[in-house]
Amino acid sequence: MHEYDLLVVGSANADLVIGLERRPAAGETVLGSDLVIHPGGKGANQAAAAARLGARTTLLARVGDDAYGRMLAEAQRDAGAALAGLLVGPTDTPGTVGKEGIKEPGEGGATGGAEGKGAPTGVALITVDAAGDNSIVVSPGANARLSPDDVAAARALFEAAAVVSLQLEIPLETVAAAARAAAEHDARLVLNPSPPARLPEDVLALCDPLVLNEHEARLLLDTGRSLGDDPREWATALLGLGPRSVVITLGAEGALVAGPGVGDGPTDGIGMVRVPSPRVRAVDTTGAGDAFTGALGWRLGRGDGLEQAVRYAVRVGAFAVTRAGAQESYPGAAEIEAERG
Ligand code: ATP
Repeated sequence: MHEYDLLVVGSANADLVIGLERRPAAGETVLGSDLVIHPGGKGANQAAAAARLGARTTLLARVGDDAYGRMLAEAQRDAGAALAGLLVGPTDTPGTVGKEGIKEPGEGGATGGAEGKGAPTGVALITVDAAGDNSIVVSPGANARLSPDDVAAARALFEAAAVVSLQLEIPLETVAAAARAAAEHDARLVLNPSPPARLPEDVLALCDPLVLNEHEARLLLDTGRSLGDDPREWATALLGLGPRSVVITLGAEGALVAGPGVGDGPTDGIGMVRVPSPRVRAVDTTGAGDAFTGALGWRLGRGDGLEQAVRYAVRVGAFAVTRAGAQESYPGAAEIEAERG
């Protein structure tokens, strides 16, 4: 029995959001709404989504020794995630936050040292105009310092996890180290290649599943030829890149799942199934993909088959779009059960 259903390795950001009529041109200043600050980052979102549903989960991530870092740690704790993997400042090592609670600035130890305060917590500066279009500037901050050494130091977390979930908002070499650590400890690997980047072949071959949306699928399949509009063709082409299974999320259309034992195909062969999403009134799709992937990782960690896990994850993704925000919009398991109606 694993201590964690899911270990998420990834980013944690403070999302700083300002609404405005229209975005400024170069050199121009415009007035906007009051600033709203949300916990975000794909890694933090996935772990929060899974924890809200009841997963035993922890997030291996780096935050700065600052107010945003504490906000993110508190959001993880509030969601029900263990803080064992959260690293504060440049010299922290896995396990310290979980043991000592959330550190206050100036407590020294992990956050002091020769490098001083170190990198600040990652920030996404988001402006949303009257048409609902957004512009985003990301300052990775501490996320860029999550290193292969951190992965090596977090060995115990990998050992304790049934599933490891990765995205690409941290250095690629760290992603690769985490994927290999997952394999070493027989943890199942879920990987969302977002923002899209070329992955080492051995890492791709470990993905079970590779989880991506249409945009990411097209970028990953940059083969120079059109793939047409049929997601089944994309899935076939993506499987050709080497992952064990593929899940393509399709927004309001749900998801396509492709892999061994999926659907009615031969149990040892590759099958494909379209899983529809419940019809909902979409209020805000921010973080829906992370809710989906966090839920998927949790269900796989509990022992669901891939298709069964995707059927659950589409319901969680659909629920997340009915409420504003990312982590704030994520449901608990009881809300998902109540939906079954
Ligand atoms: P994002 O980047 O906005 O977080 P994404 O592009 O990674 O999301 P999507 O495919 O948009 O991922 O959504 C993930 C899942 O959320 C879908 O598979 C679906 O289950 C659910 N979902 C998203 N949008 C809607 C919608 N409008 N109606 C119902 N379900 C939705």
